[in-house]
Amino acid sequence: MAAHKVVADCDVDAANLHLVLDPTLVDSGDVYGDQIAVRDTSLCQQCGECERRCRFGAITTEDINELACKGCGICVLACPHQALRLETVACGQWFVSETPYGLLAHAKLLPAAESSGRLVTIVRQKAEDLALQRGLPLILIDGSPGIGCTTVAALADVDMALIWRVFTIWSASPS
Ligand code: SF4
Ligand code: SF4
Repeated sequence: MAAHKVVADCDVDAANLHLVLDPTLVDSGDVYGDQIAVRDTSLCQQCGECERRCRFGAITTEDINELACKGCGICVLACPHQALRLETVACGQWFVSETPYGLLAHAKLLPAAESSGRLVTIVRQKAEDLALQRGLPLILIDGSPGIGCTTVAALADVDMALIWRVFTIWSASPS
C-alpha cells in the first residue's frame, strides 16, 4: 500500500519477506561477529586442560565443535602451551534486492550464529543508505517477536511502531 519506501526484514532469525516479495538480488556481503576457538596443532601437547575447563563441551584434545563454542576464551587463557586463539568468523550475510514492491534489505543468519542483533543493525543501515541514495521518505521494518536483542535493535529510534500482542488461552479439556 505504501509507495516510495524501502522494506527492511529485520526478523533475521526467521527471515521470510524474501519468500513473498519475489526479490532479485542486487548486492550482498558477509557479516563477521562471533568468535570461536582455533587450535595450532603444532603447539598442542594434548594435555586436556582446555577440555577440562570448557563449560560447553565444545573442545576435546582432538576436536573443536564450532557450533558449540561460545567464544568465551577460557580455553585460550587455560592452555599452558599457547596453542589456542580466538578467531572472528562470519555469522551471516546481508542482501539488497529489487522487488516488484520496492527495494528490500534483508539478511540470513548462519546456523548457531549469535550476532543477530548486530545483523539487524546492518540490515537497517543498508535500508537507510538505500533510502538516502534514492530519496525515499519511508523505511518499513518487519521486526521479530519477543523482547530479545533483535526486537530492541529493530525498534530503536523508529518514529512509529505497530505492535501485535497475541494472547493464548489454555483450557483444560472436559473430563
Ligand atoms: S590445553 Fe592447549 S596443549 Fe592442552 S590439549 Fe588443549 S590445546 Fe592442547
Ligand atoms: S572458547 Fe569457550 S566455549 Fe569455545 S572451546 Fe574455548 S572454553 Fe569452550
